Amino acid sequence: MKAFRNAVELDEYLASLTDEDRAQLNPNIGMVDQVRKAQAEGISDRESVLGNKARWVPHLGLPEWVRLGMYDVLIRWSEGRALTCSHQPSIDRPQPVYAAAWKPGVVVCGQCQPMLRVIGLADRTCDGCGHECMGMPDDGILPVSAFTGALAYQVGVCVSCEDEMRRVEAEAQGAGPQE
Ligand SMILES: [Zn+2]
Ligand SMILES: [Zn+2]
Repeated sequence: MKAFRNAVELDEYLASLTDEDRAQLNPNIGMVDQVRKAQAEGISDRESVLGNKARWVPHLGLPEWVRLGMYDVLIRWSEGRALTCSHQPSIDRPQPVYAAAWKPGVVVCGQCQPMLRVIGLADRTCDGCGHECMGMPDDGILPVSAFTGALAYQVGVCVSCEDEMRRVEAEAQGAGPQE
């Protein structure tokens, strides 16, 4: 597989892929079934924590800051440069793993998710724009998890960044034929 120096390169590469390219990529990656199984496990975990159903979003349907943050931690992890929990989850052993915008470069296993927990002001700060949310009902922070493979990348967004996320997603869904 191609090596990427940074998240922007990976992002550009993924954006350039056609559906055919993707289909060809899969057999080379190997472990696809294991990753899929781990991803399904991770998704159902996040669904039960967040209380809503996951949906498939095209590559460009995520705001750039979410994509780049997610790929950055994925690259660091795949190169052994991420900080991990003591179980040392590895990209070579598919299992659901978790990362968060507020803890850059940290990857933990399911059991160690509490390591990513934040409290107080950090818990109320939007990862998209830095806004300090005052709380419900008008100024809440929404937790969102995006998956790439079996890695769940978590962000907390304010009301206006949530609107922006929806706009970006709607635009990408309407942009042309998608999988
Ligand atoms: Zn762990
Ligand atoms: Zn925001």
